[in-house]
Amino acid sequence: MNIVILGAGIAGLAAADSLHAAGHQVTLFDKGRGPGGRMSTRRVELGAEKLQFDHGAQYFTVRDERFRRQVNAWQASGVASPWRAAGEDAWVGTPAMNAPVRHMAAAHAVHFGHHAMALTRSAQGWRLRLQEGEHGPYDAAIVALPAEQAAAFLGAHDLQMAGYAMAARSQPCWTTMIAFEGRLPLAADCIRQQGIIGWAARDGAKPGRDGGETWVVQAHGSWSAQHLEDSAEAVGTALLDALLSRAERPAPAVRYIASHRWRFAMTPGADMGALWNEQLRLGACGDWLQGPRVEFAWLSGHRLGALIGAAAAAA
Ligand SMILES: Cc1cc2nc3c(=O)[nH]c(=O)nc-3n(C[C@H](O)[C@H](O)[C@H](O)COP(=O)(O)OP(=O)(O)OC[C@H]3O[C@@H](n4cnc5c(N)ncnc54)[C@H](O)[C@@H]3O)c2cc1C
Repeated sequence: MNIVILGAGIAGLAAADSLHAAGHQVTLFDKGRGPGGRMSTRRVELGAEKLQFDHGAQYFTVRDERFRRQVNAWQASGVASPWRAAGEDAWVGTPAMNAPVRHMAAAHAVHFGHHAMALTRSAQGWRLRLQEGEHGPYDAAIVALPAEQAAAFLGAHDLQMAGYAMAARSQPCWTTMIAFEGRLPLAADCIRQQGIIGWAARDGAKPGRDGGETWVVQAHGSWSAQHLEDSAEAVGTALLDALLSRAERPAPAVRYIASHRWRFAMTPGADMGALWNEQLRLGACGDWLQGPRVEFAWLSGHRLGALIGAAAAAA
């Protein structure tokens, strides 16, 4: 089949890997400027200096055997490395969190910077409407977006699938990225669940980074929800204060600070794996169908590939 995939995060790309291996032709569209989705990396130029921050997923676990084989292959390609500071089974992308997704995207026809507006279906097949025009027809369509965004595309074609997506309510996450003039006097490289901080990490100390004193501070989901419409400046001040309250004095000066609001950060997850409607040839994958982790999103993409393979074998 000639298949279109909306969303080139890790789930969409895992589905692409699986379908390509089964002999299908896949084309992906993603509204992001570059690879990563919720595993993306923010890059900032400060004069002549370049800073980077993993402002989405902080690390990923490796518990499933199939995912372990994938991560070992990434490690061999230099795009992932264990990060013991976060736990025994914690890994990060190298030199940035989006590296595994970038690596996967290189193997497929991925069009970044393309915002999907609608999916339509006729006797010729599926067509994708983007802000700047239409693509298609395709034999099958896959929606690999966060649940809240997937619901709109699925709702026009399969109400049951759309209902599952609407039932998944993600928690938001305010994230603040900070660069200091010198080392923050705090012994640990990561902090979990302290005050309004859900997680904070010395980002520059992750493997494969340049060692600069950069921090990523993420607020609790409940605090993020309560402060969803606050200004980025106010959130930055609150999260910086919370981080500094954990450090000894004197703290070094701040030379860069910015905040990012993830509206749909952490999904509650469901036990469905992936969805496939063989009659319509419409599918869905993503973390919301399995659980709020990189590993689950990858597994969901492969699960969809397996469902499509099983349906073809049964036909
Ligand atoms: C702040 C934060 C912290 C996290 N921390 C961790 C962690 O420590 N460990 C962990 O395992 N997981 C963590 N996660 C969760 C993890 O990042 C996700 O589970 C995983 O990346 C989801 O992958 P996905 O492919 O399902 O979705 P996404 O990565 O969201 O991919 C969906 C893609 O769809 C694209 N898109 C959306 N709408 C459109 C449209 N209309 N048209 C075209 N493209 C579109 C987006 O640009 C995106 O690239 C975190 C997430 C966030 C946000």
